[in-house]
Amino acid sequence: LTSKRTTIEQHQRSLPVFNCRQRILKELELNDTVLIMSETGSGKTTQIPQFLLQAGYAKSGMIGITQPRRVAAITVARRVAQELNGNIGDTVGYTVRFEDATSKATKIRFLTDGVLLRESIKDRLLLKYSVIILDEAHERTVNADLLFGIVKDAQKERRKQKLGNLKVVVTSATMDIDHFGKYFSCKGLYLEGRTYPVRVMHTKEEHEDYVHTVLVTLFHIHRTTPRNHDVLVFLTGQEEIESLAQQIRQLAKIDTTGTTDLRVFTLYAQLSQGKQLECFVPTPANVRKVILATNIAETSITIPGIRCVIDCGFVKEKSFNTANGLDVLKSVRISKAQAWQRAGRAGRDADGTCYRAYTKAEMDSFADATQPEILRSNPTSMVLQLLALDIDCNNFDFLDPPLEEGLRSAYKSLDALGAIKTGTVSYITPLGRQMVQYPLDPKYSKLLLTASSFGCMEEILSLVSVLSSDHVFVSNSDKNEMAALAHAKFQSKHGDHLTLLNVFNAFSKTEKPKMWCHDNYLNLRSLTYARNVRRQLTEISERLHLALNSSDDIEMLKKCILNGFFENIAVLQRDGFYITVSGNIRAKIHPSSVLHGKYKPSYILFTEVVQTEQTFLRQVTEISIEWIKEIVPFVKNIPTR
Ligand code: ADP
Ligand code: MG
Repeated sequence: LTSKRTTIEQHQRSLPVFNCRQRILKELELNDTVLIMSETGSGKTTQIPQFLLQAGYAKSGMIGITQPRRVAAITVARRVAQELNGNIGDTVGYTVRFEDATSKATKIRFLTDGVLLRESIKDRLLLKYSVIILDEAHERTVNADLLFGIVKDAQKERRKQKLGNLKVVVTSATMDIDHFGKYFSCKGLYLEGRTYPVRVMHTKEEHEDYVHTVLVTLFHIHRTTPRNHDVLVFLTGQEEIESLAQQIRQLAKIDTTGTTDLRVFTLYAQLSQGKQLECFVPTPANVRKVILATNIAETSITIPGIRCVIDCGFVKEKSFNTANGLDVLKSVRISKAQAWQRAGRAGRDADGTCYRAYTKAEMDSFADATQPEILRSNPTSMVLQLLALDIDCNNFDFLDPPLEEGLRSAYKSLDALGAIKTGTVSYITPLGRQMVQYPLDPKYSKLLLTASSFGCMEEILSLVSVLSSDHVFVSNSDKNEMAALAHAKFQSKHGDHLTLLNVFNAFSKTEKPKMWCHDNYLNLRSLTYARNVRRQLTEISERLHLALNSSDDIEMLKKCILNGFFENIAVLQRDGFYITVSGNIRAKIHPSSVLHGKYKPSYILFTEVVQTEQTFLRQVTEISIEWIKEIVPFVKNIPTR
């Protein structure tokens, strides 16, 4: 145990923030707000909360640290608990959506920015906290942007009401100190990082298929560099990562005839915590660690031992089209700033190399910096959350105000959902107040809140839960036929929503979930997650006194879904494409749908628009024009065939 302690202390002392401990504490003593900027991996997230704890800041309240992603909140909380020689949930805990691992004893609490934002609805002055660390501020998530304004306001109020000052630390790897400094009227502290040089290589020619480029590059690295040089690969999402992981594992076997000198790990948001943590465990010196990660490995998580980075140059982003009011999930080019962040991951422990799967000229065309999410995302949730705080967006102190057009369409759609009343002064309705109780997009909250009047609360609880989880079906390329056969028995002719519901219901009944999922080519992780989500949504629904009724009337169920998703209606055209009612997007049914390649219903509702080379509507269900007229008569301009 003592040797373990010494190792931890050695590690802590080796981090760049260690030398700045006094400076940070001094600044915070003199000022209510401090900005700290330094390289990723210098110890901001794991060390600063400990400095504050030791300096006595947790006596009058908790030290809260926000993270843009749940993975980060969980992994760093575990790390800090370990450094303090305790268990998670004691001195150090975390709270993320649908999971709370804190107790009365918790002094350092990691939480996602979404969770803190929701807490602020109940406790606008954030009285539980003596310090709030807004970490990874450069990520500029919508939630973080809202929190900037909310903590600023809480600081002012607490000072005025003499309720004990709220100290705020804003930390970031690459932040615009001037912009933040002006906004918070405070100084910035630059901490000297300690990184090693990274050699950067670009492809000579442009390649369409970046996954192939990544694969070739990886095996080039594997043949030409020592085995202890670990590789971090940046890709865009779960499906791409899992399929590449499988290819690499197969190729590595062929390459080495049985000896495993290369081990592949994956890292993305939907992965279980256990799996996420695996990539932090060192491999033996003669085994190369390869981590296939999404953007989550860009700044919020630091994995030791990385000497090579392969950057595909893309990131999956949700972007909001103000013209049509719909969110679209698509892969887009990263910014130059992101490219340099990614390259930097190779130079933490020693000299490194970054291989870019794009040319120098291509990179020249990238934007300089990533646009804050608030300028490119659907502001509907945000508007509602602010109104729940009795703040009208027009009077909110934004770091960067969102676009007028987007706000207008958000007010319009919230009004249509019945969540707010717009007028000279807009205000939240009782229904809207209930909607913010759920940690969900307003559409989903509306679904839950109206389900009992359709008599199908239990079904909607299951459906919303399974929609909150990702990729229920395992599509194993090898065994595609077998998988298709297994999946066929869940298929509903009505579409994907009822199919998903069939899967979830069958899963809930099985006594051997693990074996059952394996046999049916279903994702145990996703379904288990959905079951947890369902438990929590049920609790909230009970608190709201909603009747937990159940029905096997499929028509009612579909009408109920339509009632929440009236903005997501699409109409079949003569050429086989669908046109969305809001926004006039031309799209096809996604290949993953049970309705794909079959008879095409004239009217469908969909959950999501996905844009790859083509535009698709994902998760679709057949509806009828009569229902549209009956349930959502205010939906106008329905195109005809
Ligand atoms: P920053 O927030 O400045 O990017 P962190 O505090 O997250 O830095 O990490 C500091 C160092 O702690 C990292 O460089 C890494 O060596 C180590 N570290 C952080 N998290 C873990 C973990 N889960 N497992 C092992 N080491 C970790
Ligand atoms: Mg950090």
